[in-house]
Amino acid sequence: MTQQPEPRSGFGALQARIRAVRERIAAAERRFGRSPGSVRLLAVSKTQPVPQLQAAWEAGLRSFGESYYQEAEDKMQALAGLEIEWHFIGPIQSNKTRGIAQHFHWVHSVDREKIARRLDTQRPGHLPPLQVCLQVNIDREPTKAGCLPEAVDALARYVSRCERLQLRGLMAIPAPTTDFGRQRAAFARLRTLAERLQAQGLGLDTLSMGMSADLEAAIAEGATIVRVGTALFGPREPHPADARGAGDPG
Ligand SMILES: *Cc1c(COP(=O)(O)O)cnc(C)c1O
Repeated sequence: MTQQPEPRSGFGALQARIRAVRERIAAAERRFGRSPGSVRLLAVSKTQPVPQLQAAWEAGLRSFGESYYQEAEDKMQALAGLEIEWHFIGPIQSNKTRGIAQHFHWVHSVDREKIARRLDTQRPGHLPPLQVCLQVNIDREPTKAGCLPEAVDALARYVSRCERLQLRGLMAIPAPTTDFGRQRAAFARLRTLAERLQAQGLGLDTLSMGMSADLEAAIAEGATIVRVGTALFGPREPHPADARGAGDPG
């Protein structure tokens, strides 16, 4: 049988990239002794236009990660008819917590008490608790969001007492490296932090770690959600917020 060439653009190309990412995840699960299906794929759709999300939905993706609040709100309105689980993964400004609390199912980037408190009080009572991961600045990078590793215990205890928040786990974006051993070492540090919290009786079940370039290393170290943008959608246009110096969300 001759192999069909992969289409380079359009819906077929998107389907092929989604299939390739799913195969990478499944291969890493097998290679590192993880249960089949134990790693969820979060499609990072930041900067992608609405038709691209619609196509991804038609191709079977149901969970989308967004980094910029206003952009996400516009997409949610446009896609209101589709059943989508929305994850906020970007840096959180105080004036955006109300919208995040009202419209998202998950937040991966809670990194300080003030943000947690606002999300807790602003989460509407008719919705289930907001699912929360704490972002840890695992490589102590001066310009990166996330709490420092030594601050995560106190923040986790605080969030675990918030009634409208459900603490699910930890998230990190390590300093980029192509070295597989170094990638694993950073993810192992996040896993160790999560295990320490579990030992204190906090019921964490989520490690949100691994992106297009390092998802195998993350799965090797216990990732339960990988956040993948480029490998699904192709290269991104930079977001205007980044050009204004708002910081690189990752
Ligand atoms: C952009 C982004 C990703 C996806 O990165 P890719 O390298 O495109 O897969 C994952 N997580 C966060 C927090 C991001 O901001």
